[in-house]
Amino acid sequence: MSSILNHMLKTGILLIFLFLASPLFAAEPEIVKLRENVYAFIGADGAANSGFIVTNEGVVVIDTQGPKELSLVLKKKIKEITQQPVIYVINTHYHGDHTFGNQYFKEAKEIISHENTKKNLVEKEKQHREQFKRFFNEKSLDEFELTLPTKTFANTLSMRVGSVSFELVYLGIGHTDGDIIVYLPTERLVFAGDLLYTGRLPWVQDGNIKNWQEALKKIEWFEADTYVPGHGKAADKKGLKKFRKYFDDLTDEVSKMKKQGKNLDEVIKTISLPRYKNWSKYSEWLGLNAKKVFEEMD
Ligand SMILES: [Zn+2]
Repeated sequence: MSSILNHMLKTGILLIFLFLASPLFAAEPEIVKLRENVYAFIGADGAANSGFIVTNEGVVVIDTQGPKELSLVLKKKIKEITQQPVIYVINTHYHGDHTFGNQYFKEAKEIISHENTKKNLVEKEKQHREQFKRFFNEKSLDEFELTLPTKTFANTLSMRVGSVSFELVYLGIGHTDGDIIVYLPTERLVFAGDLLYTGRLPWVQDGNIKNWQEALKKIEWFEADTYVPGHGKAADKKGLKKFRKYFDDLTDEVSKMKKQGKNLDEVIKTISLPRYKNWSKYSEWLGLNAKKVFEEMD
């Protein structure tokens, strides 16, 4: 009897230990197969997404992650799926969680982005690195070498790799001044970069919300069924509209508060949009989102 009791006690303690210890193990990114040859790399807990498309000429990678560990996980996941080399990298915008892993994909023939993305990577490097380290950790850029796009464009770029057609499209300033979307017409799929977030509030400090809303309307015109956001799980057209609705609701609320005579500080501190309470970053970023809208209205 006492040995059974002993065993139960030990198992119980072990279970409690595992339960307590589990948050220490960082969640793994998830690989989602969206089409026969199209994969999304969905960051854990809303971290940045990537994508990769396997063709008979090689692999096209969309966004290279930021901290070294995640870029290497992305590389490993691609290797597990195909022996094809990476021949093109596309950066959807300049933010480090999407571009700082470029150095781990130097075998690519070209790294492609909008011209402003390259410009931002060069001109904002110092402040951008500091911001990145604050967000991740002090050591996260110890082995970092800035690896810039080698081919840039201003409006659109079409390419065909193996049997897959790619349309890279710039829709004006949105999340940054250099966001592009990657449209695969045959696969009816869009990699939207950080112009789209799902289940999470957006980071708005670098862009323009009014134009961003216009860009989202344009994305809705594309003939596609699947939209891979920059953060969060892949969505359909409904998910895309839901995100644009967030900006509409945010703008309405800020405008209402302004009409009631509230100043910027009061808006930041007291705004509430309960409908989005379960989106991550709600408590951290709602005030910042409202601030941006308020400033754009002035
Ligand atoms: Zn971003």
